[in-house]
Amino acid sequence: MSKVYEFKAAFKRRKGLWRRIQIKDDQTLKDFDSIMRKAFNHDKDDHLSEFFPGRAWRSKGFGEIDPTGKGKGSKLRIKTLGLSEGDKLEYVYDFGDDIQHIITFEKMVEPKKGTSYPRIIAKNKPKYNYCEACNKQGKKTKATWVCIECTNEREKALFLCDDCLIKEHEEHYADELTY
Ligand SMILES: [Zn+2]
Ligand SMILES: [Zn+2]
Repeated sequence: MSKVYEFKAAFKRRKGLWRRIQIKDDQTLKDFDSIMRKAFNHDKDDHLSEFFPGRAWRSKGFGEIDPTGKGKGSKLRIKTLGLSEGDKLEYVYDFGDDIQHIITFEKMVEPKKGTSYPRIIAKNKPKYNYCEACNKQGKKTKATWVCIECTNEREKALFLCDDCLIKEHEEHYADELTY
């Protein structure tokens, strides 16, 4: 009978942004990578990623994984990583932007029948930003983007919804927000 590992994964630079993830011990880093991409909205781009047994880049990583799930690091099974409760891994998505995550192995649990793994079982309570353009028209709309160009120019974050980004900032470089 296989066991289930329960991890808490968080952005290293925004620790309040976390997801709790369960994965079976006989699943691989490829499976872990796919749920990390989904959990942190990294599944819209096609960058490489890598897990590390310690600090990112300072420890020798398990090998890169590409967006199709192939790569040197993809075949390792979770149970072969030698993890004890409380151990931390690190995960880097996109070697250019170097988006680092800390992953803590919290505990081992029993698998639930009829449940597919890996899965996200909890996440931080989101603190939403609202679209500034909508706000000016008296509407409260959840922002999904930050316009990097306008933010840099006026030195204050400009949050926008999908519609307002397309309408007025389509040519601008923008980042999608994760909550
Ligand atoms: Zn808007
Ligand atoms: Zn803009």
